[in-house]
Amino acid sequence: MNELQLDDFKTDENAAMVLLVDDQAMIGEAVRRGLSNEENIDFHFCADPHQAVAHAVRIKPTVILQDLVMPGLDGLSLVREYRNHPATRDIPIIVLSTKEDPLIKSAAFSAGANDYLVKLPDNIELVARIRYHSRSYMTLLQRDAAYRALRVSQQQLLDTNLVLQRLMNSDGLTGLSNRRHFDEYMELEWRRSLREQSQLSLLMIDVDYFKTYNDTFGHLEGDEALRKVATAIRDAGARPSDLPARYGGEEFALVLPNTSQGGARLIAEKLRMTVEALKIPHTSPAEGSSLTISIGLATIIPKAGSHCRELISAADKGLYLAKNNGRNQVGIG
Ligand code: GH3
Ligand code: MG
Ligand code: MG
Repeated sequence: MNELQLDDFKTDENAAMVLLVDDQAMIGEAVRRGLSNEENIDFHFCADPHQAVAHAVRIKPTVILQDLVMPGLDGLSLVREYRNHPATRDIPIIVLSTKEDPLIKSAAFSAGANDYLVKLPDNIELVARIRYHSRSYMTLLQRDAAYRALRVSQQQLLDTNLVLQRLMNSDGLTGLSNRRHFDEYMELEWRRSLREQSQLSLLMIDVDYFKTYNDTFGHLEGDEALRKVATAIRDAGARPSDLPARYGGEEFALVLPNTSQGGARLIAEKLRMTVEALKIPHTSPAEGSSLTISIGLATIIPKAGSHCRELISAADKGLYLAKNNGRNQVGIG
């Protein structure tokens, strides 16, 4: 809750600010005298009906006393004007009429007035009505402020939750999904593929000779290389359902739902070439080499009673083959 809204809650609900709009200065004087001994009632008088709305917007009264008959402007049109202005829309209006007339009363209420008094009312009654309307207006303002504050804090909570969720699911170094999220996602997609009997593919990706890379260039350079490889992996999966993740250390994974082995192989081969084309200098396997990755690939249509571990070990087998056959290649498990 910000300070402005806190201030709204602190306003004295017994304080009233009255604006009387009447072309007759004599009425203005009479009401001023009537209210002068009242505690907590501020009084403003406006004799020019054409200035009334602007005046009300400026001083923010908690009650408007509005004369009905004025030269040049009908009091009821003025009531409608207050109702149409966002700053005066909800301010209680007590219309002051010269006579007790049901038709005029009815018209006043339809125009948006809250109360009706015949001039000049008894002072005790006038004060009682001013206090009543002013208090209900203050309550309305407080309630609106409370709702606004509630909406703001609810939105903040939603935003915070989103940020937390993102932090909880992502890997700090690369920004890819972390192992926790990868595990959850694999379970989910495994079950979906089982239901739909669709092909689920997985790439397990491992950086080649990365230990030597760290030993040669240091861990900070190693981290930088991992970030570059992670970016290539993120860009490799084009569909929203493809999930790139850091599996651990210098091992990554790319989950490819609804993807055939042929499709996964194309993606894997493209990714392998993209990393090679980054031309990150390396000293292994030989001086003048570039950093490369090996990829294990597997595709399964899940059977009932099976577990997604099957797919992970199959992809791992593919990765082992790729490493054994000389690295910088795609192996199928
Ligand atoms: P291979 O070609 O068989 O995969 O050999 P390798 O050296 O890449 O494999 P190995 O598993 O022996 O070494 C992996 C290295 O990755 C060891 C570790 O220091 C490094 N590593 C793991 N996580 C990080 C990390 O977050 N940052 C950096 N800089 N290095 C990491
Ligand atoms: Mg490695
Ligand atoms: Mg490794």
